[in-house]
Amino acid sequence: MPARRISPNQIVRLDSIPTDYTGDLSKDEAQERLKDLGKEVGDLQELLFAAGDHSLLIVFQGMDTAGKDGAINRILEYVNVQSCRVSSFKVPTPIELAHDFLWRVHAVAPPKGSVGIFNRSHYEDVLVVRVKQLVPEAVWRARYEQINAFESLLASSGTIVVKFFLHISKKEQEERLLAREQDVEKAWKLSVGDWKERERWDDYQRAYEEAIARCSTEHAPWYVVPADKKWARDLAVAEVLAETLRPYREPWLAQLASVGVKAKTELAEYRASLAQSA
Ligand code: AMP
Ligand code: MG
Repeated sequence: MPARRISPNQIVRLDSIPTDYTGDLSKDEAQERLKDLGKEVGDLQELLFAAGDHSLLIVFQGMDTAGKDGAINRILEYVNVQSCRVSSFKVPTPIELAHDFLWRVHAVAPPKGSVGIFNRSHYEDVLVVRVKQLVPEAVWRARYEQINAFESLLASSGTIVVKFFLHISKKEQEERLLAREQDVEKAWKLSVGDWKERERWDDYQRAYEEAIARCSTEHAPWYVVPADKKWARDLAVAEVLAETLRPYREPWLAQLASVGVKAKTELAEYRASLAQSA
């Protein structure tokens, strides 16, 4: 599978993970496969909703232009958006800063039956915050364990957590930033900040390596997705989602069957009581 699942405590060297790996499929084949997988993920989400025991949290992180918006839009094409919520995490507001860093995140964690997609996340608090030294090192260092404890709490409350790092090369980023200048419809996304952040590329890569290594756990794994090719990226994400949800299929179906039996029994009892009183 093109996406690489990081094992707990595995050392991560992003330089040694290709950004342009596309797997064995051609672009056309990949698009066909994505259709099938998208349908499967959509069906699984319907079961998740109906069974009502679990929620799904999908986290997207990546450098500017890595394709977080694009990958999220693609997922929204194959899930039912009625039980789905996308949350984007920006520079914290004064109110958010007056709370602990997980406060704004916990508030939008997906409730049972639904899907939450994070465009950036609590990981910014060990990424941008670390690179720009927005808090002392001792404060951000303590956050890896705090994040693990938080995600473990979510998992033990029925949340299935998957985290994607969209991995692009520095050269691909430059091309995408330059393309934004050329494209009238994309120019709104332009920001001087993106070029400034780019100067700290290596610091960000080191920050990502440590965050991914320390916070990839059995119950909330990190996946590094080669993201230079958008079609390969979307397929890799769909593969991971299908693989993550598939094991729940049978339990969810069993749960639905038992709910169905209970509802039928209640209905039969109700009809019997009507017949008696008639
Ligand atoms: P964008 O994703 O382009 O809308 O930009 C959002 C910006 O918010 C990025 O530059 C992030 O680094 C920044 N950001 C998100 N979370 C935090 C945080 N906790 N502290 C500081 N900056 C943040
Ligand atoms: Mg940006």
